[in-house]
Amino acid sequence: MYERVLVPTDGSDAAELAVEEALDVAEKFDAEVHTLYVVDTDAVEMSLGTEQVDRIRSGRFGEMDELEARAREATGYVTERGRDRGVAVEEHFRGGRPHAVIADFAEDYDVDLIAMGSHGRTGIRRMLLGSVTERVLRSTHRSVLVVDEREVES
Ligand code: ATP
Ligand code: MN
Repeated sequence: MYERVLVPTDGSDAAELAVEEALDVAEKFDAEVHTLYVVDTDAVEMSLGTEQVDRIRSGRFGEMDELEARAREATGYVTERGRDRGVAVEEHFRGGRPHAVIADFAEDYDVDLIAMGSHGRTGIRRMLLGSVTERVLRSTHRSVLVVDEREVES
């Protein structure tokens, strides 16, 4: 049923919870796991300038050590957890608008399931969903597993 699972990650705790569920699915269905970190080019445009942003869009971080380190830390975590559990993980880096890049990636790789956090690094917890997750849900017809890390209110 599931052959390819995509875990978009921004390195947040919520994304890390989604990683465990993605690995559960992968173990059970013997699926491939792809993890994707997107550098939000709108967010870095102000500080980096257009030339560097163009480089990021084409997947080259060159000389942007801090960005690259953050990206590698986020996806490297998924690979490590996969290794602990005997699941192979392929790491991917892209630049652009996160939700659009995630939705396009899901098409290009024909993924069966996108597993992601309800929230991420940058948002406000009282929102039901972070904007990246909300927009992914609007932009794809692929199945999305949203892992909620908030405390449940009673
Ligand atoms: P907002 O971004 O709206 O301020 P937030 O940061 O709390 O709110 P999102 O950014 O929507 O929430 O994050 C939800 C999930 O989306 C994360 O757990 C992660 O799975 C994924 N995600 C968010 N940003 C990225 C990114 N840059 N690259 C890859 N995946 C991402
Ligand atoms: Mn965010």
